Amino acid sequence: MEQIEPSDGAAFALERLRSHGFEAYAVGGCVRDSLLGRVPNDWDLTTNARPEETAACFCDCRIIDTGMKHGTVAVLYGGELIEITTYRLDGDYLDNRHPADVTFSKHLRDDLSRRDFTVNSMAYYPDEGVVDCFGGRDDLAARVIRCVGDARTRFEEDGLRILRAIRFAAVLDFRVEEQTARAVHECRHLLGNIANERIREEFCKLLCGRDAVGILREFSDVAAVFLPELAPSFGFAQHSKYHCYDVWEHTLRALEEERTGDLVTRLGILFHDIGKPSCFTRDEEGGHFPRHAEASVDMTDAILRRLRFDNATRELVSKLVKYHDVPIIPEPKHVKRAILRYGENGLRALLEIQRCDRLAHAPEYAALPPSLEQIPRIMEQICAENACLSLKSLAVKGDDLLALGYPSGKEVGEILQRLLDAVIDGELPNERDVLIKSLK
Ligand code: ATP
Ligand code: MG
Repeated sequence: MEQIEPSDGAAFALERLRSHGFEAYAVGGCVRDSLLGRVPNDWDLTTNARPEETAACFCDCRIIDTGMKHGTVAVLYGGELIEITTYRLDGDYLDNRHPADVTFSKHLRDDLSRRDFTVNSMAYYPDEGVVDCFGGRDDLAARVIRCVGDARTRFEEDGLRILRAIRFAAVLDFRVEEQTARAVHECRHLLGNIANERIREEFCKLLCGRDAVGILREFSDVAAVFLPELAPSFGFAQHSKYHCYDVWEHTLRALEEERTGDLVTRLGILFHDIGKPSCFTRDEEGGHFPRHAEASVDMTDAILRRLRFDNATRELVSKLVKYHDVPIIPEPKHVKRAILRYGENGLRALLEIQRCDRLAHAPEYAALPPSLEQIPRIMEQICAENACLSLKSLAVKGDDLLALGYPSGKEVGEILQRLLDAVIDGELPNERDVLIKSLK
């Protein structure tokens, strides 16, 4: 019998429910991840206790009302949030997303049967071991994502499951089982009924997954349902000596080089050439894509808005797409300017995008420029010497200028900015006396 170690909060909640005479199990992702030897993100419990009964069991704990009417009680235990849901059967699905009504059940099996994939449908209680009614263990061993029940039916009930299927396959590096995969393709248009926020959440996990590339290649038609802007890239030949792959294959190969799993970097790579098909021109030398970075950035901005990304992510990814082609000169002053423009992490992302982009060119043109290795070293130096990059760390302040008799107002700001520029460019040291002397 496999033994799983529930988190402290999960162990506490399981025992609390059991001591009140209820059934209680850890269920879903935490069981799957534990059996895989991965650390679960969070622990969900399922129980035959009704929501009010569950709440009563935890009357001495902090309860967060997340979804009482859907049967979920969230208990806070030592900073850990444990979601406890009553066994339930989902009612009719009307708009391919929301169960029209929730029916509580007395049987664990009912609750497991409503879950999306076999590997997500296992429950666990230490004295009983793993409860596996739908072959989840076998599918974990075979590394397969398979719907519980008939895949088409399950996707028609809830279209988000289409994206979840390929998300789990990408993250876990699993295959999508054949019938489930066929239904994913056939039902993909049902994703059109799903809220953009939910698409975004699943898609971000997919894109950062270990096998994002394999899954995007196999299911590009599915991605094109919520990212129709990608479709023109599929098979779009570049007719260029620099490229031996079509635009989409180039993008996938660039993504394949990306090993950090950073979301911003991966979004940048996914979208860096998305505008190319709309910019294509051809002459005797071959294909060209003039101003494709601008076209890409417009599309990127529109996509990230539509999928309701936060502003910071949207702005940074757009900036990275816009400048993905612009090399940075490996000298301290240029690197400092780049840190100011992109931020430290943004610059790291840009360098990674440029590296991956280059490696996905035709082999004769895939050699990395030395600057891509030099710049991180220069960045380290700049950080180590705590170089002055902003007015905040400039050795001269506005008050110093006023004391020297400069009238307050716009001029002071302009002078400070000029001094800062000189310091960043290495023309002046960031020393108060020297800077003041330079004014005279
Ligand atoms: P993660 O590690 O991403 O949190 P997870 O398996 O915990 O993975 P959640 O989205 O947190 O995924 O959902 C928890 C569980 O609820 C799933 O394991 C699955 O059993 C069930 N579930 C979630 N969404 C659905 C859905 N749309 N249809 C059916 N079952 C679902
Ligand atoms: Mg979860």
